[in-house]
Amino acid sequence: MSYVDEVFQMVVEKNPAQPEFHQAVKEVLESLRVVIEANEDAYRKDALLERLVTPERQLLFRVPWVDDKGQVQVNNAFRVQFNSAIGPYKGGLRLHPSVNLGIIKFLGFEQIFKNSLTGLPIGGGKGGSDFDPKGKSDREVMAFCQSFMTELNKYIGADTDVPAGDIGTGAREIGYMYGQYKRIKGVYEGVLTGKGLSYGGSLARTEATGYGLLYLTEEMLKCNGHDLSGKTVVISGSGNVAIYATQKAQQLGAKVVTVSDSTGWVYDPEGIDVALLKEVKEVKRARLTEYAAARPSAEYHEGRGVWSIKCDVALPCATQNELLLDDAKALVANGCIAVAEGANMPTTIDATEYLQANGVLFAPGKAANAGGVATSALEMSQNSERLSWTFEEVDSKLKGIMVNIFHSMDDAAKKYNMEGNYVAGANIAGFLKVADAMTAQGIV
Ligand code: NDP
Repeated sequence: MSYVDEVFQMVVEKNPAQPEFHQAVKEVLESLRVVIEANEDAYRKDALLERLVTPERQLLFRVPWVDDKGQVQVNNAFRVQFNSAIGPYKGGLRLHPSVNLGIIKFLGFEQIFKNSLTGLPIGGGKGGSDFDPKGKSDREVMAFCQSFMTELNKYIGADTDVPAGDIGTGAREIGYMYGQYKRIKGVYEGVLTGKGLSYGGSLARTEATGYGLLYLTEEMLKCNGHDLSGKTVVISGSGNVAIYATQKAQQLGAKVVTVSDSTGWVYDPEGIDVALLKEVKEVKRARLTEYAAARPSAEYHEGRGVWSIKCDVALPCATQNELLLDDAKALVANGCIAVAEGANMPTTIDATEYLQANGVLFAPGKAANAGGVATSALEMSQNSERLSWTFEEVDSKLKGIMVNIFHSMDDAAKKYNMEGNYVAGANIAGFLKVADAMTAQGIV
């Protein structure tokens, strides 16, 4: 059996009931096969792949907190410190009822390569809890965040592990967590990113993932003879990534005609009204039915359906495994030319393969949504030098990083005779830097 197959089998055996983690490892190892096989003896002797797929440290802890009725609630929480070969662990905290160890491990594993691709010195990690901030009062969210940080603070720090936001963890949650960290530790340091602007946050961090997705998509289209301007775009999700992806797509001359949430989706042939979407989602924290009610040109539909709308470009920006094989078939049948992942692993492996086989340009999340973590790393730099850069400075650095990421994955794909296969290119480019650093640092 080849080294890649052996390691994948070991991952499945040693990590039972973690399908998302298996899926992420399989996707990465498959595309690294050619690189691993070229250097198999050395990697095998050093157990490089076994070390790569095994987190350096996994923290599991309980989070007790008191709800508004005086009832004690208990949630499960996780922080997976996956790989620190190229820098302190870096990755978000997801707060969602679906969170479990396997999901955090899949996200932490992906984060290693994503962070490497940014070219910045950040390792891979991820964390979160099955706590659901939806429907909770501000006081309940604060009680949870303070209890969560009371345990997590022991394991993180500006030079060791720097968590950030993710699904369910926005500016409010980061603020409560930062306050509790400072109270316990008594230090004012850049231990979290995604902070508010008044206490060390970076301008353009809020916009970064969505904007970065569009900068990379624009470069990918340009290098393949297309222009984003004038294109019809479908987007899923209506959270942080989806909102700012919609805004930047429209600034670049495209028309975005859909958004969705976990209960339904909106088709707005006139183009999504970003100001209204922000009002509904960021201010009122309401359902998309409110968007449709306030906008005569919009249709609201229950359930899923975004991928059935005719488009040139599709940007999944909600969650994992939301674009399935049948969706990929519908996109191809409707003439879609490019898919770029704003969310983490939103496209299943069979859907990705179908899109690639049918000539659709496909940018994987670890490249396409790396603008968020890249800007988090810029926030860390600003915190270290006790300075704040302007929006334009951060945005122009972000754009440069996203364009570089596109060319790193494009070049790696070409070098290994897989031209246009950006999934392979991103994995290879991300892997080589980490593998080199792990090898240089010995068996640790
Ligand atoms: P938000 O919580 O702001 O928004 C998530 C959106 O996805 C909401 O519209 C939500 O709908 C929808 N959603 C969540 N879960 C499901 C589900 N199971 N089925 C259908 N829809 C769902 O998160 P973000 O925008 O920050 O993150 C979106 C994705 O992007 C995630 O995969 C995240 O890991 C990834 N990402 C985020 C980065 C960031 O900087 N924020 C950076 C890199 C990646 P509802 O409101 O109904 O829950």
